[in-house]
Amino acid sequence: MAGPQSITIVGGGLAGLTLGIGLRQQGVPVILHEAGQYPRHRVCGEFISGRGQAALVALGLEGLMTGAGAVSAQTAAFFTATRSSSPRPLPSPALCLSRFALDAALAEKFRALGGDVQTGQRVPADFTGEGFVRATGRRAQASPAGARWFGLKVHARNVPLVADLEMHVSSEGYVGLCRIENGGVNVCGLFRRRAEEKGGAKHWREQLSGPPGSPLRQRLAGASFDQESFCSIAGLALSPRQAASHPEICVGDAITMIPPVTGNGMSMAFEASALAVPALVAWSRGESSWADARLKIVQECDAAFAGRLVWARWLQRLVLTPLLQNPFAALAARSDWVWRRAFEKTR
Ligand SMILES: Cc1cc2nc3c(=O)[nH]c(=O)nc-3n(C[C@H](O)[C@H](O)[C@H](O)COP(=O)(O)OP(=O)(O)OC[C@H]3O[C@@H](n4cnc5c(N)ncnc54)[C@H](O)[C@@H]3O)c2cc1C
Repeated sequence: MAGPQSITIVGGGLAGLTLGIGLRQQGVPVILHEAGQYPRHRVCGEFISGRGQAALVALGLEGLMTGAGAVSAQTAAFFTATRSSSPRPLPSPALCLSRFALDAALAEKFRALGGDVQTGQRVPADFTGEGFVRATGRRAQASPAGARWFGLKVHARNVPLVADLEMHVSSEGYVGLCRIENGGVNVCGLFRRRAEEKGGAKHWREQLSGPPGSPLRQRLAGASFDQESFCSIAGLALSPRQAASHPEICVGDAITMIPPVTGNGMSMAFEASALAVPALVAWSRGESSWADARLKIVQECDAAFAGRLVWARWLQRLVLTPLLQNPFAALAARSDWVWRRAFEKTR
C-alpha cells in the first residue's frame, strides 16, 4: 500500500511553518520552500491576540512561545497627538514576541519533527497544482488608487511605556509599541501616503517618532534603536479577499491581509493553518480529492474570518480619520463596552 502523499508549502512565515508543523504531527511528509533565511526581522507589531492563541495551543506550541521568551501583555492604551487614555486591561491577555525569535523557533520545531525546509529558494509565482499550498504572505499592490500603505519596524530600548501595548495614531497612520523578549520594545508603524503627495519620504526615525510634542515623540525621546532590526515594506493591499476567490489552497496573508490596527494577522495565519490540517491530512492519505480538500478549507476560513475582516476595515477607517481620532480616544477611555467590542469584533 502506498504511503501518505507529500505536501509542498511555498512560504515559510508563520502560516507556512505552523501548517508544516501541524502536518508533520500527523505524519504527512512536507517540503517547505522559503525565499529567505532564519532568523530574520519582519515588519510586524509582534502582538499576538485573539483566537490564534487557541490554535497555537491546539498545535502544542504554547511551550515554544514561552521558551522563546514571549511576554504576556495585559494592558493597552490609546493615544492621539493631543490626547492620552489611561491603560485599560485587555479583554484577554496577548503574547508579544519578536518575529526574529518566533519564526526561527517555529522553523527549528518543524525541522525537529522531520520537516524539510529549503531556505533561500524563491519558487516562481505561478506554481500551482495538487499538493501545493501557498503561504507566501501578503500580495503586493504596487500602485493602488488613492493612498499607498507602507510599514516600518525597529526594536528599541529605553522606551518607558505606561501599558504593555500602546497605540499612537496621527494623521499619517499609527505606531504600536509593545514589550518583547529580553526587555526590548517593538516600534512598528503603518503609514499611508497619498498618491498626489509631493516631496521625498521621511527618514524612518522621523516617521516612527510621531508629530512634535506628541506622547509618541516623548516616549521615543531617549530610545536607543537596534539598527539591525530595522525593516520596511510597501505595496500593502488592505482590501479584504475571500479564500474562495483564490484557485489554490492558501493560508495566512496569502488569503487576505487584515488591517494591522487589529493586531490579528498572525492569529489568522495560525488559525488558517490549524483549520487546513485535517483536510490536507485526508488528501495525503488518499481519503479525499484535492478539490474537496480545497473546498473544505476555503469554506472554513471564510466562515472564520468574514466578520472580523468587515469590522477591521471600519476600525481602521475610524482610527485613521483625523476628525474622529480624538472623539474615539475619549469614548474608548470612558466606555468599557466600546473598548471590549472593538477588541472582540476584530478577533
Ligand atoms: C505594519 C504591520 C504591523 C503588523 N502588526 C501585527 C500585529 O501586531 N499582530 C498581528 O497578529 N499581525 C500583525 N501584522 C500582520 C502579520 O505580520 C501577518 O499577518 C503575518 O506575518 C502573516 O503571516 P504569513 O505567514 O501569512 O506571511 P509572512 O509572515 O509574510 O510569510 C510569508 C513568507 O513567504 C516567503 N515567500 C514569499 N514568496 C515566496 C516564494 N515565491 N517562494 C518562497 N518563499 C516565499 C516570504 O519570504 C515569507 O517568509 C502586521 C502587519 C504589518 C504590515
